[in-house]
Amino acid sequence: VIMMGQAEHSKITTCAYCGVGCSFRAEMKGNEVVRMLPNPDGGANQGHACVKGRFAWGYATHKDRMLKPMIRKKISDPWQEVSWEEAINYAASEIKRIQAKYGRGSVGGLVSSRCTNEEGYLVQKLVRAAFGNNNVDTCARVCHSPTGYGLKVTMGESAGTQTFESVMKSDCILIIGANPASGHPVFASMMKRRLRQGANLIVVDPRETEMVKSAHIKADYHLKLKPGGNVGVVNALAHVIVTEKLYKEEFIRERCEWDSFQEWMEFVSLPENSPEAMAPIVGVSAGDIRGAARLYAKAKNGSIYYGLGVTEHAQGSTAVIGIANLAMATGNIGREGVGVNPLRGQNNVQGSCDMGSFPHELPGYRHVSDTTARSEFEAAWNVKLDPEPGLRIPNMFDAAMEGTFMGLYCEGEDIVQSDPNTQHVTAALEAMECIIVQDIFLNETAKYAHVFLPGSSFLEKDGTFTNAERRISRVRKVMPPKSGYGDWEVTQMLSNALGYPMNYTHPREIMDEIAALTPTFTGVSFKRIDELGGSIQWPCNAEAPEGTPTMHIDEFVRGKGRFILTKYYGSGERTSKDFPFILTTGRILSQYNVGAQTRRTFNNMWHSEDRLEIHPDDAAERGIKQDDWVGITSRAGQSVLRAEVTDRIQPGVVYTTFHFPESGANVITTSSSDWATNCPEYKVTAVQVTPVSQP
Ligand code: SF4
Repeated sequence: VIMMGQAEHSKITTCAYCGVGCSFRAEMKGNEVVRMLPNPDGGANQGHACVKGRFAWGYATHKDRMLKPMIRKKISDPWQEVSWEEAINYAASEIKRIQAKYGRGSVGGLVSSRCTNEEGYLVQKLVRAAFGNNNVDTCARVCHSPTGYGLKVTMGESAGTQTFESVMKSDCILIIGANPASGHPVFASMMKRRLRQGANLIVVDPRETEMVKSAHIKADYHLKLKPGGNVGVVNALAHVIVTEKLYKEEFIRERCEWDSFQEWMEFVSLPENSPEAMAPIVGVSAGDIRGAARLYAKAKNGSIYYGLGVTEHAQGSTAVIGIANLAMATGNIGREGVGVNPLRGQNNVQGSCDMGSFPHELPGYRHVSDTTARSEFEAAWNVKLDPEPGLRIPNMFDAAMEGTFMGLYCEGEDIVQSDPNTQHVTAALEAMECIIVQDIFLNETAKYAHVFLPGSSFLEKDGTFTNAERRISRVRKVMPPKSGYGDWEVTQMLSNALGYPMNYTHPREIMDEIAALTPTFTGVSFKRIDELGGSIQWPCNAEAPEGTPTMHIDEFVRGKGRFILTKYYGSGERTSKDFPFILTTGRILSQYNVGAQTRRTFNNMWHSEDRLEIHPDDAAERGIKQDDWVGITSRAGQSVLRAEVTDRIQPGVVYTTFHFPESGANVITTSSSDWATNCPEYKVTAVQVTPVSQP
């Protein structure tokens, strides 16, 4: 219930849900939030908000919050509440015991991309300096790691090129594998404003999303491809751009590696990449591909927005590279209204990657094998660093099954619910000797844990989040941590107990250290963010003291843009007689990821189950009617959902959201993953669908 006028005090903070990063005024009475008001001066949202940020904060005071540290020797034992000191000392002694028995590399840490930059930085520092290895990873692994790879190798920076506001200068918007109306609603509203002003729209998506057709907007082209066909479509678009000479030669000669362009031009010109050759493979008409390519390439300003429908594929990194190739070939880089814009799912996906939460990169995307970078960190941290990349999340699971990875510190991630092939994940967790979970709820992963450390919600944090447009925004503590300690303090206590001293007194000191060690952050501090109205877009340094809204203006971060060949080979997940459908997944506006927060708020009123969308022809053939229960079986597992019979989805493809993991979306998904980054292929799973009686 929202009681107007009850507030006694308020603070400006940042929404902890999606990568738009809306700014809110949290109005408080004592230590209770009475309402969240969108901030008219918010850099990303300018007074707008969606139902998640506006209403879904009640989880912070939900009765399920865990506030006491707990330990147990075996996962079959009952939890025992203990003091913070005992829990931390036990966790540290277990890590030391495991390393003494199995070696320095037998433990690691995971940190959620929903944590603040300062918390993410501290976890990777704990792993590198106190554990003594690079076994640190983040849930960005399972969403946008291909973005980090693909944009880095082509343009030199693992980040989107524009501000959100830039879309207001775009003449043709190309959306690939994203549904901003559900996933990034405040940005979608801005985009729709531009579309109503007359910008053209192309949507590449297996499903007719709200962005394809809704009140006052209709896409000029909807390339309703088969899941797994992104690279084929991107190559066919490129074929048209090259063979019809729609590329911008002057831009390419001046800004890109001409040799790489020529090689790419020859490759995409091959008959096998033509729209006519690709049409039957990807399921889109050649005429529509040709029309869409002309529309994008001829636009004065053409912009590309993409999401997990691009990255969560076996060819996720290839598709990101292909998108970057399209933008460079058409000269759509380096000014307002253009660019390549990954729509980040979580509030701080960009930030957690910036902070070095990957096993191969130190903060600022500097490779662990880079001697100069490593020596800077070694001097600052007073420690010798491992030059070898550590284990990624799926490698940790595999190593656990082999008996070489035995201890895990997991802050804010529920890997049992969010990672693919649940059976493999739980088997790996059962094989480990000590799992330390730090979270606000006793989540599914905690069922396999030996130490539980209570975490804090965004309302209890000081720090920063970095949104999809590289905007670093302040997160302000509006109530004290309910468990007594903030997440950064817990990491610090663990580090000290392990014998590696950390002595920060406030997250601002952590940001100061980040700025001192990260060239793109040297101008960032809490004070500077406040001076600039609450946010700064990185790079922010001596050359750009007020931040950088648009990247790659005069030259690419890597110097010259590099075209890379993107051979299409499709998904390894093939349909068969036993598994005749392709299952793909997405989000709904009112819920968020596995629902841990939104399902403990008012938002559950609006959407309280995942459903399986199936085309009317497929449903009729199987005797499935609206609301019937259906069984979904893949090569990995099975689940049961209710049917939503709709022609939004194409024949042969079924679709579900993943906000209710108990209904099993990740039990079905397989371990297939991106070739470059191991990002799971959540978007393509071959399944069978059959009517079943109510479970
Ligand atoms: Fe929060 Fe995203 Fe909604 Fe903004 S659009 S209020 S950041 S969930």
